[in-house]
Amino acid sequence: MRNITDCFQALTHLVGNTPLLAIRCRFRGSERVVYAKAEYLNFTGSTKDRMALHILRRAHEQGLLKPGAQIVEATSGNTGIAFAAIGAAIGHPVRIFMPDWMSQERKDLIRSFGAEVRLVSKEENGFLGSIELSTQYANQVGAFLPRQFDNEANVEAHALSTGPEIWAQLEKEQLQIDAFVAGVGTGGTVMGVAHYLRTRQSTARVFPLEPSNSPTMSTGHRVGKHRIQGISDEFIPAIVKLDQLDAIIAVDDGDAICMAQSLARQLGLAVGISSGANFLGALLAQDMLGQAATVVTIFCDDNKKYLSTALMQEEPRKTEFLSPAVELLGFSCLPRAFARGWDPFPH
Ligand code: PMP
Repeated sequence: MRNITDCFQALTHLVGNTPLLAIRCRFRGSERVVYAKAEYLNFTGSTKDRMALHILRRAHEQGLLKPGAQIVEATSGNTGIAFAAIGAAIGHPVRIFMPDWMSQERKDLIRSFGAEVRLVSKEENGFLGSIELSTQYANQVGAFLPRQFDNEANVEAHALSTGPEIWAQLEKEQLQIDAFVAGVGTGGTVMGVAHYLRTRQSTARVFPLEPSNSPTMSTGHRVGKHRIQGISDEFIPAIVKLDQLDAIIAVDDGDAICMAQSLARQLGLAVGISSGANFLGALLAQDMLGQAATVVTIFCDDNKKYLSTALMQEEPRKTEFLSPAVELLGFSCLPRAFARGWDPFPH
């Protein structure tokens, strides 16, 4: 029998505490620096490891995750990969419900960790259908349901780790954060970092980001289509409190693809599509606050889950795209905020 407490302890060495990249570029006539958390360095290669580890550990401590219980979740991909891997590490079976149009890499990766995948078609109501079906199934079999879209522990994961890390990394450079920008999937990242910044009495702005082709947050409902997997999942999650955040920033999905391609081709930073969107969002925040503003964002994952997607194709450029005007100049790396093995999650 594995000791689950030891398993969780081992995983804390592999999740979070990521480096902060300082990326230099020229945009709209000025030299700028954008800070981005290298979240692709997490255990399964995405920011969702933070949330999955924290929710499972909390649930175990509170007696909600019974020994050997199945873990069941609806997800657009990275969350499924995180729960599948961490589930395997702690010895719990995992079943994932996800829309069938998500990248093949996501489905294969989840299965590679021994988890079951139940694909949900557009006719079965896609993302919302995945949530409904996962809830019904979990109730039937008595599985543990993390409920990432409603669970405040998702927000807490980022308030306890991502936020303090960013603060400490900038502080070492005698910098203060002026704004944080993040694409909203569950909203755990944007809300958690916002909560932490408020505890520091920081006046930093926090901008949620969405695809301009599918502006769910600004309209309040599912509208249009977009290719930025992981954000704007057809509804506004319960944990997202737009009245606690600043203005919504919108980025075209094609522009996000071009920006992610440039980061890989010109700097070797092989990031996913939402990272391209976040980088452009950070530049737009600087347009509002001043070109020298210290703006931080998230590189949520890397490009390996997008090998079969538009990220690997030549994207037609629209005249309104921002990415062609971005000249990437180089980057430096602010080291991890804390000693290896730092455990952000008090328990
Ligand atoms: N980008 C990617 C690639 C993701 O998988 C996610 C998580 N769904 C996000 C951004 C958004 O993160 P959050 O759920 O914390 O809003």
